Amino acid sequence: MNVAQPRLQVQSLTRSFGGRAVVNAVSLEIAAGQVTCLLGPSGCGKSTTLRMIAGVEMPDSGRIVIDGQEVCGPARILPPEARGVGLMFQDFALFPHLTVAENVGFGLRGDRTERGRRIGELLEKVNLSGYGEKHPHQLSGGEQQRVALARALAPKPRVMLMDEPFSGLDNRLRDGIRDTTLELLKAEGTAVLLVTHEPDEAMRMADEIALMRGGHIVQSGSPYNIYTRPADRAAAAFFSDVN
Ligand code: ADP
Ligand code: MG
Repeated sequence: MNVAQPRLQVQSLTRSFGGRAVVNAVSLEIAAGQVTCLLGPSGCGKSTTLRMIAGVEMPDSGRIVIDGQEVCGPARILPPEARGVGLMFQDFALFPHLTVAENVGFGLRGDRTERGRRIGELLEKVNLSGYGEKHPHQLSGGEQQRVALARALAPKPRVMLMDEPFSGLDNRLRDGIRDTTLELLKAEGTAVLLVTHEPDEAMRMADEIALMRGGHIVQSGSPYNIYTRPADRAAAAFFSDVN
C-alpha cells in the first residue's frame, strides 16, 4: 500500500431532500490510524454524510474512495458490506437473543475454530474475557458498548464510521470507553470518522476536525488551529463553551 495515500477520500459528496441540499459538496480525507471528527450542530448533515460513506444512503453526486478503490462514484457503487467499513451508532443494538460471543462473531466468516479464536481475541481486547456466554441483558451499558465495539472490530474494517456512539453513556463511563475505543482503532490502523455535536469531544479525540454547518464543511484543521483561529464568528461561538 502507498503510505501517502489516504485511507478514506470523500470528494464533493452532495445529497438533497425535497429540493434542499442537506449535504453540499462535502470533501474530506482520513489517513490510516487517524481520527477525524465531523463536528457541527444538530441537523447540519453529519449523519447523512456518514450514511452515504457507509453505503446505506445514496449520494446525488460525488465520489468515495477507500484505499485507492472507488466504492461509490461514476464507475461503480459497492454495497455496504463490500466497502470494508464498520459502523457504530448510539443505538448499538446487540441481538438480545444471542450470547456475547455470538454477537461478536455475527459478521465473521471462516470455520468454527477460526471464528472462536478471533472472538476470544476481540473479547480480550475490550476487556470482556469470560463474558462470552452471557446475554446482553446481563451486562451494564458500558459492557454492552464494549461488546458493540468488539463486534464492529471483528471484520477488521479499514474505516470506522461512528455516529455519536458515546452520547448514550453516562459521564462516569464515557471517558474510559471513548479512550479505549479510539486507542484500539488507531492501533489497528483504522481510519476513524467520528460524528459529534460536542466541541469538547472533538477537541479531545480528533487528530483533525471538520466543522460542518448547513450541509457544508466550513473549516477543517487540527483542534488547536480551529480553536485558536476559527474561520468566522459562528465557528468561534460554537467553540466558546469548551473548557
Ligand atoms: P445531523 O446528523 O447533523 O443532525 P442529519 O444528517 O441527520 O443531521 O440531517 C440533516 C438534515 O437532513 C435534517 O434537516 C434532516 O431533517 C434532513 N434529513 C435527513 N434524512 C432525511 C430523509 N431521509 N428525508 C428527508 N430529510 C432528511
Ligand atoms: Mg445525526
